[in-house]
Amino acid sequence: MGNKFVRAIFPGSFDPITNGHLDVINRGMKLFDELILAVGRSPVKNQLFTPEERVKMIAELIRQRQMLGVSVESFDGLTVEYAAKKKADVILRGLRSLTDVQYEFQLAMTNRAVAGIETVFIMTSEQYGFTSSTLIREVASLGGDLSNLIPENIYNRLKQRLKKTKHEARNSNSETNTNGQNTKRKT
Ligand code: ADP
Repeated sequence: MGNKFVRAIFPGSFDPITNGHLDVINRGMKLFDELILAVGRSPVKNQLFTPEERVKMIAELIRQRQMLGVSVESFDGLTVEYAAKKKADVILRGLRSLTDVQYEFQLAMTNRAVAGIETVFIMTSEQYGFTSSTLIREVASLGGDLSNLIPENIYNRLKQRLKKTKHEARNSNSETNTNGQNTKRKT
């Protein structure tokens, strides 16, 4: 983008990060000098990983893949306020389909109206056009093979987490505590 140093933020939930996100990030790395992945801390229903866990997993990927100019942190509140704090020039968002366009268009218009910041959209590769973190969580919980859609380390963490969640759900159903003792009150 010319001679000007361009810093972008890529905000999202990343719960968990997928190959679709990474595809957008890799393309973004060619356009921007600095790219900050911004994990939203706003309370989301059905979140699987805490924002801290997501930041840690993404930071590990950045290190492993030696993604120069890319960093990750979490943020609270409005994306535009965070963008201003980081002195970001643009907001990066990914597009999968026409359904995304409608929502993203509104979001980008609002952000430009309230803060004058531009949003740059990058279209994903066709093979990730149907990949979303929500779908990944659902398919993984049903035991589907996701090895083509998320990085191996993230997939392993996801499987571990789902196993733990299922185990906890089973335990709480039978009202058994972590020591294996039945906590059901005798009446
Ligand atoms: P949000 O909670 O804002 O939807 P996500 O983590 O789901 O956050 O997504 C962050 C950004 O990444 C959004 O711009 C979303 O459109 C984009 N994105 C998510 N999955 C993909 C994908 N498979 N291909 C391209 N962009 C994607």
